[in-house]
Amino acid sequence: MKKSDASIFLAIVVVTVLTLSACGRTTETDNQLALEISALDGHAAGHVLWYRQPAGSWNEALPVGNGRMGAMVFGDPDFERIQLNEDSVWAGEARDVKLSIGTPADLTEMRRLIDEGDLEAFRSRREQQLRSHDFDVKHYRIALSLDEPTRSFDGETAITFSSTIDDLSKVTLDAESFTVQSVTYQGTPLAFTQREGGLEIDLDRDLALGEEATLTIGYSVTNIDVDSARFGMGEGYDLGFNFKPESPTNPPIIFTLNFPEGARHWFPSFDHPSDWATHETIIEVRDDYRVVANGALVSDAVDSETGRRTVHWSQTKPQPTYLYVMVAGNHSVLEDKYGDLPLHYRVYPGDEADARLSFSPTPGMIGFFEDLYGVEFPWVKYDQIVIPGIGGGAESTSATVIAEWTVSNATELKDRSPDWLIAHELAHQWWGDMVGYEDWEHVWLSESFATHAEYLYASHDLGADEAALVLDEHKVDYLEEARTKFIRPIVTNKWNRPNEMFDRHTYEKGGVVLNMFRELVSEDVFGEVLQAFLEANAYGNATTTDFFETVQQVTGEDYSWFFDQWLLKPGHPVLDVSHTWDSQQKVLSVTIEQTQDRKLGTPVYRLPIKLGITTTAGKTIESIWLDRELKTFRFDVAEEPLMVRFDEGDVLLKEWTFSKSTAELLYQLSHDKAIGRMWAVGELQERMDDPAVQAALVEVGQHDAFWAVRDKAIQAIGAMESLTSP
Ligand SMILES: [Zn+2]
Repeated sequence: MKKSDASIFLAIVVVTVLTLSACGRTTETDNQLALEISALDGHAAGHVLWYRQPAGSWNEALPVGNGRMGAMVFGDPDFERIQLNEDSVWAGEARDVKLSIGTPADLTEMRRLIDEGDLEAFRSRREQQLRSHDFDVKHYRIALSLDEPTRSFDGETAITFSSTIDDLSKVTLDAESFTVQSVTYQGTPLAFTQREGGLEIDLDRDLALGEEATLTIGYSVTNIDVDSARFGMGEGYDLGFNFKPESPTNPPIIFTLNFPEGARHWFPSFDHPSDWATHETIIEVRDDYRVVANGALVSDAVDSETGRRTVHWSQTKPQPTYLYVMVAGNHSVLEDKYGDLPLHYRVYPGDEADARLSFSPTPGMIGFFEDLYGVEFPWVKYDQIVIPGIGGGAESTSATVIAEWTVSNATELKDRSPDWLIAHELAHQWWGDMVGYEDWEHVWLSESFATHAEYLYASHDLGADEAALVLDEHKVDYLEEARTKFIRPIVTNKWNRPNEMFDRHTYEKGGVVLNMFRELVSEDVFGEVLQAFLEANAYGNATTTDFFETVQQVTGEDYSWFFDQWLLKPGHPVLDVSHTWDSQQKVLSVTIEQTQDRKLGTPVYRLPIKLGITTTAGKTIESIWLDRELKTFRFDVAEEPLMVRFDEGDVLLKEWTFSKSTAELLYQLSHDKAIGRMWAVGELQERMDDPAVQAALVEVGQHDAFWAVRDKAIQAIGAMESLTSP
């Protein structure tokens, strides 16, 4: 679509969107119009249509629309998405249009369907204590011989550990799904008992404090099929060990998913994030398979007599068991490099060209994160391995497994780039892998940092507007959970299953909190904190207190007030903002009231805030501190401001209202930064009976410099009952 046709097109856009919102159904002819809406923007503009589908479903969430739209397809069997861009219709026959969805905020209803819950869900959880054990595992040597047709393996794991008490006589390990046949110590059989979930071994003699021993455990399983729901995970989640048969979308593939407690399904272990050990993975499999695991390749050879391949990997830096991984299959292995660091993209045969394109940002990202964190990439190589059945990735050390959709063709990449996912999992190689967490209570030390990395990389790669949109999306995601599910402290020992900690508080809220801290202390100081924390805790686990101590050491200041309100207490500020202009005194008054419900422990916040005051002479930024429930700030200003901007930079995590005149909103609509312009669209949407507002939104829908603002304006126009002045 050429630009000169844009005005004709806007009329079509309006008609089309009105049709959708008025009827909720349209014909396939209308679908073509809907697809052309996005052509108006020159790329995916953000109109997502949901089509009823007679059968089948997406099993995973797919971000669409330039990858940063926030629009997602969920595993709802009733819907399939047909995407926007005229040349990027993916799949499926269009049926009845269900609804049209655009910006992240519009996803509220869809997400609520997925995340049904109630405020009691958090309060009724158990309080956990750190899991104790009186031995410390030093090394696992895991050897498995795999038999694909019978979904079976024979295993032998040698565990080297030291006693942490004076007289250790028994060792209890996590063991699920497989049956233990033997336990030996220096060739002598030991008595053992395997009960549900646990393997108790009688050592036959007492080990002294610090004394080391190596136990060799033989075990096997036939027709393995882990019921993940029984272990606190979603039903479709491939916890533990998987033999995946060939399907229309994937080749046969064998893989592990250890997060969060999957290791115990393929090797006996102390399967908890607090225990770090080095490990070797030795896999015997059919000769045409490639096998990848953590660390460095030791050997890969086919036995000429048996025709079986044995591949031996070694991870010489300690790791918690949930970061161990093994994948075997007939992947194509694409090689790349970052300096001397070998990179591999392991993808399905036939996907090579798209995969080369999709993973191409990886070396640049490694360089970006090395600069950002001040620490070199911590491992000897980095593999990204495509597996079926996951919507995101799992950051197993030096070998991330990642969703199939990451591999996209050039057209799909325009609509939904996987860069954020690649960046997130890569950032984990420092956050979560190089430095882990002592217990699930502290998992924000991994996930919040990886989520923040998505924003930082977008900022570096795509610029301020796109990055602001990512941050806004993270806020929306958290606020959605806070409104519909629960609020909880980010750091808490209340969970029934570890997986419950991996919610939007840990990811999105934590990421936004880190960004507020970065804004508070400056980019440079924040970078110093990250580097110091990584170096102080390298190749081991840490706690939230360790992070606080690093902050104190680096900054020399006490930021406990900040972390206390954002990490240790639940909720977020809810702010009512208003302003008045005294034309006699030439004084601008801005009043801010904190109205959040404090019954569940949400505090009165102490907030650094930037106010932007724009007059005909230009903009001045005032830094203020809100530290009580209600406060009025007064500023001498030479003339009545054209715009008063609350939270300049859009740093704060907040719900808020700020009542403004239509004149000020119209000024903001054309003069503010992207998030502010989008906010102005939302406010003006309530005043659409004013022809001047309609005209302004049509103008913005057509000509705003940023696609997300155009999209928001078009959505606003489309939501109207009628249009008096198109
Ligand atoms: Zn993550």
